[in-house]
Parts: sequence; structure tokens; C-alpha cells
Amino acid sequence: MDFDTIAAVATPMGEGGVAIIRVSGPEAVETVDTIFRGKQKLSTVDSHTIHYGHLHEPKTGDLVEEVLVSVMRAPRTFTREDVVEVNCHGGIVSVERVLALILDNGARLADPGEFTKRAFLNGRIDLSQAEAVIDLIRAKTDRAMKVALNQVEGKLSRMIRKLRQNLIEAMAHIEVTLDYPEHDVEDVTQQLLMDKCQEVKEEIARLLQTASQGKILREGLSTAIIGRPNVGKSSLLNSLVQEEKAIVTDVAGTTRDVIEEYVNVRGVPLRLIDTAGIRETEDIVEKIGVEKSRQLLQQADLVLLVLNYNEELTEDDYRIFEAAKGFQVILIINKFDLPGRIDLEEIKRHFPNQPLIMTSAKEETGIDLLEKAIAEAFFSGKVQQDDLTYVSNARHIRLLRQAEQAIDDAISGIDERMPIDMVQIDIKKAWELLGEVIGESVGEDLIDQIFSQFCLGK
Ligand code: GDP
Ligand code: ZN
Repeated sequence: MDFDTIAAVATPMGEGGVAIIRVSGPEAVETVDTIFRGKQKLSTVDSHTIHYGHLHEPKTGDLVEEVLVSVMRAPRTFTREDVVEVNCHGGIVSVERVLALILDNGARLADPGEFTKRAFLNGRIDLSQAEAVIDLIRAKTDRAMKVALNQVEGKLSRMIRKLRQNLIEAMAHIEVTLDYPEHDVEDVTQQLLMDKCQEVKEEIARLLQTASQGKILREGLSTAIIGRPNVGKSSLLNSLVQEEKAIVTDVAGTTRDVIEEYVNVRGVPLRLIDTAGIRETEDIVEKIGVEKSRQLLQQADLVLLVLNYNEELTEDDYRIFEAAKGFQVILIINKFDLPGRIDLEEIKRHFPNQPLIMTSAKEETGIDLLEKAIAEAFFSGKVQQDDLTYVSNARHIRLLRQAEQAIDDAISGIDERMPIDMVQIDIKKAWELLGEVIGESVGEDLIDQIFSQFCLGK
């Protein structure tokens, strides 16, 4: 494919230290050579070497910046094109000047994600890996980062390829059967097809099982903190937020700006639902404790139900119990520093299998136990910590579901002794859908859409 030469700042803007401006494309070396003065012309240096020098305005000869320049020639680069990286001082002014100079001398400003798009289009990475780069940029915790990294390394791609290989083999057997109808191979083929399809189905189901955890790692565990007014919800929340690093992101909503708050609890990102509401409009919220609790529950993966150790259960508590049933609940008995009046046995009767934690937000006790319970609620022994191949991308999940459906259809077809070329249609469909996960049969539009999600310079 023929590409022009693109450039962009590859490091976060305005963050001091050193900034890197990345240039990629057939003219990358020539472009930087026009403005660079060092011991050697860059066109003569070995690949994958770094050079000290200065950038000058070629027309006037004015000194612009002191730089280190890395020269990396195709194909051993991220984009598989010639890549030059200019390291300069990190201040915004100097970065802008260097970028402007490069853009004036042969490069075009890269679109967001264009470097990664080229890596994909030049066959350096597949689509699921490219999408993982997006996740990597957005990863909110170390664990989410690891999942994305594994995907960049191609673990998901390898699994998908293996499944497709199985389906290809199944299709090959069908071809043989169709080509030699006089041989009595139908029965053998039926069994073999069934085995292959079952195997693929199980593997897809396993991948899909990881999806909810993958999604949570990527987007955070939606957590609702509910309970009557004055039981200590805000105080507990503050303890959690203090202890852990809270990440606050502004998400532009349709009607108003929603504040999403992330708390990283032992590697599990909690997305606290509507904490702005809990904190700021205390009065309103407190008045409609039960109603608000119901609302918050709608979107919750995890419910933190807070009760007051110092008071007997009230009608409102019972209503909140009813609303919380069926959710994954952690019961928090707060104000444990005060004398006990609550009926713990009664609570256990309502939630026999849910963890119950005693806390005092005032004295900061039990918060560590709460964190442990949250982490356990998430992992609940299901996740192997070392094998973090989760499916976390909505597009992958949709494709896998569709592929699972196609395989199901194939399996019913085999069961019902449908004509074997009908079964083949379903198998081929599954094979194509899996191919879309790794980008082997996707159209231009989708590619553009995926890559437009990137930050500039990636
Ligand atoms: P919310 O309405 O559920 O959000 O409750 P708040 O967090 O606003 O707390 C209500 C009142 O209870 C405040 O005066 C807190 O200082 C107090 N409080 C919260 N947690 C505790 C606790 O563990 N022990 C004691 N003694 N008081 C607490
Ligand atoms: Zn409150």
C-alpha cells in the first residue's frame, strides 16, 4: 500500500521532561534530514540508532531545538514503515515548534490512531490487537492494563485462529464428502463435524464467560452504595476514596455532565454510580432513600448495602432488602463503634450467602475487610490471575455471540441430519464472524471507525 508521511506528538502534551514526535512513512528520514544537523546525515546512519543534533529552520538557518533523533527503518518498526522519533524538551512551546517544522518539511499531521491503523493495514498487528491498544490507553487499573497487554501480544488472536482452523478442517471434510458422494463417509463425517463444532462451541462459550469480567476491568464494576439516610454511606465512600486512588473522569452526557468516579480497590476498578448525587444533593437524596436506592440498583454490578449497627431495622431497611435481592450484595453494618441494636440474625436470614462486614467509618475500622470483600466478590475464585485473556471489547463480544449462534445452528443441523451442505453454510458463517474479530473480513468503514477512537499520536 502507498502511504504518505505522517507526524504527531507521541507523548502526552504539556507533561514536562522529554517529548517524542513520531514521524512515519516513506519520507520520514528525508523529512527530518532536511531540518536536522548532527555528525551524520540521517540518510546514512544504521537503522535503530540514536543521534544527537539540532533542528534548524532550513530556509533561514535559525536554530529551533536541541534534539535526539532515533532512526528506525522498515520493516522492523511499529508501523512497518520508516520511523523517525524526535526527542525534544517537553515544554508545549518547543514541542509545537518542532512539530510545525516537521509538518512544514514534508509530513502531514497524523489523524488520531493513524499510526496504529498503519500497523494494522501493513500487517504488523491484527484488529483485535489494534483495539487492545485503545484499551491500553484507557486502562484504569494495572489488571485492566495486563488484559489489554495480553491482547496486544495476540493471545486472543491466537485463540481465534485456532478456532477458525478447526472450522476450516470441518469444512474440508464436508468438501470431501460432497466430492465423493459414492463413498459411504456420511456417518464418519457427521461424528467428526459434531466433535469439531462442539469443541469450537465450548471454547467460544468459555471466552464469552470472561466477557463480563473483561468488561468490568475495562469499564469498572458499576457499584451502587445504598441504604437509609444517615447510616454512613457518604462517610464510607469517603474512606474508600481516601484509602485508594480515586480517578475522576468527566463524561459528557446528553443532558448534563455526569461525573464518574473510579476507585481502584485491590486491582478491581469500581465505578461508583452517581456519587455526585449522593454527595452533593444530600438533602434530596436522603429524603428519598428507598426510591433512590431502587434507581441506583438498575445499573449495578455490585451493591453495597449499608445499615446502622446502632439502630433497629426499620420499614425502610426492609424495603431496601427487597429491592436488593437477586443482586450481588455486600452488607455493611456501619457505626460499629456505637452500641449494637441491630438484629444481625435477621439480616443473615434475608441474605444468607452474602458477605457481611462490620465497619466504623468514623474510626476507619473494617475498611480493609470491605475492600477484601469487594475484591473477592469480583474474582470469587473464578479468575486465574495469571491467565488474563478476557474478551472485553463490545464488538468482539457481539461477534462471538453471533458465531456461537451459527455453531449452534450447525450442531442442530447435524443432529437433525440436515443435508451436509446446509450445515456447511452455518460453519462458514461462524468462520467468517470469528474472522471479523481479528479483522480478516472487515470493511473499510469499520476500520475507520475503530481507529478514530485513538488519541492523537498513537
Ligand atoms: P449517609 O446519609 O448514609 O450518607 O450518612 P453520612 O455518611 O452522611 O453520615 C451520617 C452521620 O453519621 C454523620 O454525622 C457521620 O459523621 C455519622 N457517621 C458515619 N459513619 C459513622 C460511624 O461509623 N460511626 C459513628 N459513630 N458515626 C458515623
Ligand atoms: Zn450521604
